[in-house]
Amino acid sequence: MAYDDNNIFARILRGEAPCVPVFEDAFTLAFMDVMPQADGHVLVIPKEPAATLFDLSPEGAAASIRSTRRAAIAVRDAFAAPGVFVGQFNGAAAGQTVPHCHFHVIPRFPDAKPRA
Ligand code: 5GP
Repeated sequence: MAYDDNNIFARILRGEAPCVPVFEDAFTLAFMDVMPQADGHVLVIPKEPAATLFDLSPEGAAASIRSTRRAAIAVRDAFAAPGVFVGQFNGAAAGQTVPHCHFHVIPRFPDAKPRA
């Protein structure tokens, strides 16, 4: 998937669009999903311009999984969640709607109806 510099997550990273940040480091940004599948739905994105998992550098991939784990621990503890979903979609055929690589982190409770 070609990288579109004007996708919404690129605009968030440039400060051109708002977000509710959770944490940030040199390589990644974690923020609240604007249309959450459940309370506490966090997105983790690499700062590098990667459309999908396949486009990430090894360093970006390592930083992304480190931050995704950090976000999963944060939502588990903040929501006392018995489970936490972590997932991501690569390509429109897989269901990806925003063409900047991202990781969904969603607290899960026994009655949840997951999208995937
Ligand atoms: P995808 O379907 O590409 O895996 O997920 C994209 C996610 O980005 C969706 O969960 C959607 O709610 C979220 N999203 C789309 N636009 C925005 C936005 O402008 N701000 C935030 N915080 N999340 C967004």
